[in-house]
Parts: sequence; structure tokens; C-alpha cells
Amino acid sequence: MANRVCLNEDIEPPGSPAEAAGTARASSTLPRKASPTLRVLIGADTATRVIKPLSGYSRYHISPRTHAFRKRFFPSVSQAEWNDWHWQLRNRIQDVHELARIIDLTDDEYRALSNHSGPLPLAITPYYASLLDGEGPQHPIRRTVIPVAAEYLHSPEEADDPLGEENDSPVPGIVHRYPDRVLFLVTGFCATYCRYCTRSRLVGRAGEYGFSMARWEKALEYIEKTPSVRDVLLSGGDPLTLSDEKLEWLLSRLRNITHVEFLRIGTKVPIVLPQRISPALTRMLRRYHPLWMSIHVTHPDELTVEAAQACSRLSDAGIPLGSQTVLLAGVNDDIETMRRLCHGLLRIRVRPYYLYQCDPIKGSSHFRTSIETGLNIIQGLRGFTTGYAVPTYVIDAPGGGGKIPLLPEYVVGREGNDVILRNYEGRLFRYPDCAVSS
Ligand code: SF4
Repeated sequence: MANRVCLNEDIEPPGSPAEAAGTARASSTLPRKASPTLRVLIGADTATRVIKPLSGYSRYHISPRTHAFRKRFFPSVSQAEWNDWHWQLRNRIQDVHELARIIDLTDDEYRALSNHSGPLPLAITPYYASLLDGEGPQHPIRRTVIPVAAEYLHSPEEADDPLGEENDSPVPGIVHRYPDRVLFLVTGFCATYCRYCTRSRLVGRAGEYGFSMARWEKALEYIEKTPSVRDVLLSGGDPLTLSDEKLEWLLSRLRNITHVEFLRIGTKVPIVLPQRISPALTRMLRRYHPLWMSIHVTHPDELTVEAAQACSRLSDAGIPLGSQTVLLAGVNDDIETMRRLCHGLLRIRVRPYYLYQCDPIKGSSHFRTSIETGLNIIQGLRGFTTGYAVPTYVIDAPGGGGKIPLLPEYVVGREGNDVILRNYEGRLFRYPDCAVSS
């Protein structure tokens, strides 16, 4: 029985001491122009927090809650260390005893952690742990990162690779499912591991899925030799946990492929490790436009002052931001929570992009909702709020069918040339569809 759950994680980050030193040097040479005041609406729709400029570019404002957490549980850690993403990664909570020091674990959580035998390790950054402190076991964010016994119940419909990604993988690390784009899995490392992760078969572990430069080279070679690929999504694991140097090496290689028009990064780092979004990183990223980013976000409580600063830095670097959210039972499966989340995202310049039905990954039954729940949420948003605030609800079809959008029934039927439509209030309208092709 191992109490240390993180047994064999593929340790890519944190970056080398040389890299950390390089980052510090780069920061010290930045112009000392004051950044504009950032006005952010956090939490409750009406609460406004004004973030004043800081003198040091690499510093982050720390929310009062997180500040109190640091003082209580990491009293010898300075604010500068706390705001150092390397420190955050080095000091991730990976052990039942470390976690029990800061959170009153339930018997269920304690047993699940102590007997952990599944592939997905426990890891939570101290920053993200500060969002869990003092909350009960049903706290939405806590449920997404702390294992419970239900994680070990496997239903017949569940699978290690429910999306059949391995079947669409021409070379290790590449998933080529759609005609013009590929998914490039660049690392198995994440700052914090989500208990419902679709790729729990490969994240947080070495061995079969070990990531290496040789593997990157093979993947790049495949993209180079496949002219139909115009869009590359870097994912994993979390690409933003790579060092600036490694990430830039990848981006520059991809930018040199003439048929690759568009680069994207899928990441949860701005939410679980916002300190990573440094000026040095954003300066590097902006050299590789058009570069877009999909941010994995789950609950409005994640939209802290720190996360808002990270997203602001990315937006200011010209990176369009979209969100990806997994619909999770007891976490975000009601209209009000999703409305708060989507409104909060728009306020920090992140466009709600996808709402995913939870994939039937092994041990996910306690997270999965009915499809009707998702449709009701979309129905409760569409028309009642800004169109930009309504994500596209999709099922990633098990077996490899790709994303299939789901919409409530707005087309009721047809009478002659008229289409009968139902609006957001349930009222019926006719559209004269006179241009019907014969
Ligand atoms: S951040 Fe993404 S890849 Fe990493 S554990 Fe969470 S869902 Fe999986």
C-alpha cells in the first residue's frame, strides 16, 4: 500500500535552474512601464475588483483567500517564491499526508488516497489547493481533484480510451481524426490532475506513453509529410508545463512547416498554475501567431484574481482565448453555475467555447450526467444571456466519431413551405422557407 500516490510520473517540468535564472534575467531587462489598471469582475456578478499595477512584472496579485492560506500552511514561503511557477510545481501536493495537513479529508477520500492503485496520480498545486481549503467534501472544485472510492468502480460502458484515439494515431503522440487538423500530445505532465481526465491512460505516468524528443521528431515528421494538416492542437498533458525553451522549439518547428496555418494550445495552466503565465512566456508565444488557446475551466470559483491576471496577459499578447468545460455531476451541472461560469469567462476575455458531455472513461460514473441535463443547461442559457456566453454542447463520440453538437429542439416541424420554430421562451413562430430547393 503506497501513501505516495504519485509513483511514476513522467517528470518533464519544472524547468531547469538555468531556465529559471534565464527567466529572471529576462524579467530584469524589461522596461519598467506601468501596466494599465486591470478591472476585473470576479465571483458574484456584481463584485468588481480593481487590480492596480504592480512594480515588478513577474509578480502576481494574490487574492486575500490565497494569501491567508499561504500564511497558514506555508508560513516560511515568501510571496516571491509563491509566485514562482517552478516553486509551485516543486511543491505540489502529491501525498495523502500532505493533503491531510491542509484539508479535513473524509474517510472516503482518505481510503481512496491511501489505497490508490489507478493510473492517474494525485497532484495539486499549492495555489489550487488554496481554493479548496475550508470547503466541505461536496465542494465542486475539491471533487474534481481529490479521489474518492467511486473512482475505482468500473462500469461496462467505460473504457481506458473511450474516444478510440489510439486507433487514429499514425505515429505515437499524433491523433489524426479530422481531415485538416491533428492533435499533438507533447507531454504527459499536468500541474494538477483532474479525476475525470479523458487521457488518464497516459497522463502522469512514464513507460508506454513516455514522451521524448525522439517522439516529438517522429510526430513533426508526420506533420511535415502530411500537407492536408493546416491546424495543429498541442495538448497532452499540459503543454504550458514545458519550459519556455522546449515550447518555443516545438512552436518554431511547427511554424516552419508551410502548410500549417494555425496553432492551438490546450491547457489548464492559467487556472491551476496562473503564475506560469509570465511576461517571458507571453513574449515568446506572440512570435508564433496565429496562435489560439483553449483553457480548461470547470467552475466559477476557479476564476480568481490570479486566473484573471493570467488570462489578461495572454489576451494582451494577442492570443484569442476560448474555454473548454466538461459537464460534471455535482460540479457544474446546473444552469446557474454554468451561467456564472460563462459570464465570468467573458469578463476575463475568454469566450465559452465547448461544453463537453463527460467521456465514459473508467471510473467516471460519479461524474457523468444525463444528456438531458446538458440540453437543459443550453436551453437555460440560449436567449437568456449574451450569445457569446453560450458554449457549444458536444459529445465526443465513443469509438472515434469526433465531436457531435447537441442542441435543444428549436425546429418543431414544417407546414407546407413554413418551418415551425420554437424560440427561447417556448413560443412558436413560422419562417417562410420559400427558397426550398426542389
Ligand atoms: S489538465 Fe487536462 S490533461 Fe491534465 S489531468 Fe486535467 S483534463 Fe487531463
